[in-house]
Amino acid sequence: MKKENGNIKLAIQKDGRLTENSLQLLKNCNLDIEKFNDKLVVSVRNYKLDLLFLRDDDIPEYVQDGVAELGIVGEDVIKETKANVKIVKKLGFGKCNLRIAIPENVDIKNLSDLNNKRIATSYPNILSDYLHNNKIEAKVVHISGSVEAAPSLGIADYICDLVSTGNTLKLNKLKASINVLESEAVLIKTKGLDKKIETYNIFLNLLSRIESVLNAKKSKYLMMNVEKESLNQVLGIIPSLKSPTVLPLAEENLFAIHAVIPSEKFWEIVDELKSAGASGILLLPIENIVL
Ligand code: ATP
Ligand code: ZN
Repeated sequence: MKKENGNIKLAIQKDGRLTENSLQLLKNCNLDIEKFNDKLVVSVRNYKLDLLFLRDDDIPEYVQDGVAELGIVGEDVIKETKANVKIVKKLGFGKCNLRIAIPENVDIKNLSDLNNKRIATSYPNILSDYLHNNKIEAKVVHISGSVEAAPSLGIADYICDLVSTGNTLKLNKLKASINVLESEAVLIKTKGLDKKIETYNIFLNLLSRIESVLNAKKSKYLMMNVEKESLNQVLGIIPSLKSPTVLPLAEENLFAIHAVIPSEKFWEIVDELKSAGASGILLLPIENIVL
């Protein structure tokens, strides 16, 4: 490990489903990250930040113990490790559900149908807590990989595993049933960080960059041209975050409208805009929004 250099340390997954999105988020924050190859610690060239590349299961504990002040990891892993860390921000990627899955030919009507069953999982803590909270008596069978094979091997009746598309389940003649936990990647911080003023200030600055990137993702920059007589009608359609900008153009009676809109609204309004007389409609991505 490197000597202390006053940099804040952020732990991210070394090689897995969260790695690419975590790095992309940091790059969008304008951080210039060295090539990491197989290094454990990598510096950011233009920021007082070091990246620690770890297995995701280790990240909550490293952050709890203050080895890294910050981490990016799935909520599922935080809950499973029961680490004492603070969740700062949901990051909008790595979304998945931890679900109980059952053989295709079985039907579950009530949670109580789980009583006396054996459920295989690599999330024994989350599952045990869930069963306990719902007063279900079932046996939790802890296995660390290929959980979906457990029913056909006769090790368990059901499984509890992460599901996104359900394809792996289908291959094993299983179907998703009860939802135990919804998860996405989150930014976590070590407790007591506010006592280290210098590091805390770096954290606050990084957080505001991350927030501005996340805000920008939710919005798009919309531009179009409109004739004067259609102006009010078109302005009435635009679900703009703030009042749109209206600019007169060189051609008489023609105006340009610029507005920031929620990304998902665009396809709802584009036909309406066209029939109200808007032309030259452009939709552009936004890199940052500082609120
Ligand atoms: P590591 O080698 O770091 O221990 P891993 O194999 O435990 O990696 P990954 O499969 O890379 O972990 O998943 C990392 C995280 O990605 C999960 O904890 C979860 O939060 C999230 N995730 C999102 N979609 C899925 C999915 N379909 N299956 C599994 N995890 C998913
Ligand atoms: Zn893992």
